Amino acid sequence: MATAIAQNLEVVRARIEAAARRAGRDPKSVTLVGVSKTVPAERVQEAVAAGLGDLGENRVQEAREKAPHLPKTVRWHLVGHLQGNKASHAARLFQVVHSIDSADLLRRLEQAAAREGRRLDALVQLDLAGEPTKFGAREDELDGILAAAATCRQVAVRGLMILPPYDPDPGQARPHFRRLRALLEEARARQPGLDLKELSMGMTEDFEVAIEEGATLVRVGRALFGERHRA
Ligand SMILES: *Cc1c(COP(=O)(O)O)cnc(C)c1O
Repeated sequence: MATAIAQNLEVVRARIEAAARRAGRDPKSVTLVGVSKTVPAERVQEAVAAGLGDLGENRVQEAREKAPHLPKTVRWHLVGHLQGNKASHAARLFQVVHSIDSADLLRRLEQAAAREGRRLDALVQLDLAGEPTKFGAREDELDGILAAAATCRQVAVRGLMILPPYDPDPGQARPHFRRLRALLEEARARQPGLDLKELSMGMTEDFEVAIEEGATLVRVGRALFGERHRA
């Protein structure tokens, strides 16, 4: 019998597919990243066994502890803030870092990846609402970060990420998602040398809205693993 997590995965996949079809998109153009923060490795393993290939963590240390208990085939995504002094660990562990918010951090990750002999993808996290409590670069900082990206060899900047202000009404996130997509399109035109096409947006409450607005990576935690018990 399928476990609860395997059933959740099936439901989330069906919702992703339906949202993509509604938007006239190929469901395969959306990658599900299962956000496994606070979830013990054994439960994460159930999702991986059921076919989840991408896992997201918001802390480098938690991912370091969990990764040895999970198959090597898992693609790890860092979805939370990265401190510069953790860049080496991040470069060793993650395939995609969603939270680049300054040119300085990007350069540190590039140097770390070169030292570790690793290549990875990265996204620039933007804070379009100007929330003081949130990480993320301002819109006017994007060009500077992309200019630094153009000089990187080990880290390929592939797009943008957003974590809109929390609101129980998923419709409230739509303008933020739409704006992020417009910014990606403008950036593509200005930076033809970069391969910018990924939009990391949408979580449990609003991933369907995000897909309608062009998300290529959705970061879903609770809809897969249930409510989190630890903060
Ligand atoms: C926790 C987290 C998620 C997943 O949130 P859910 O509401 O559990 O789907 C997605 N993105 C980031 C950056 C997170 O920290």
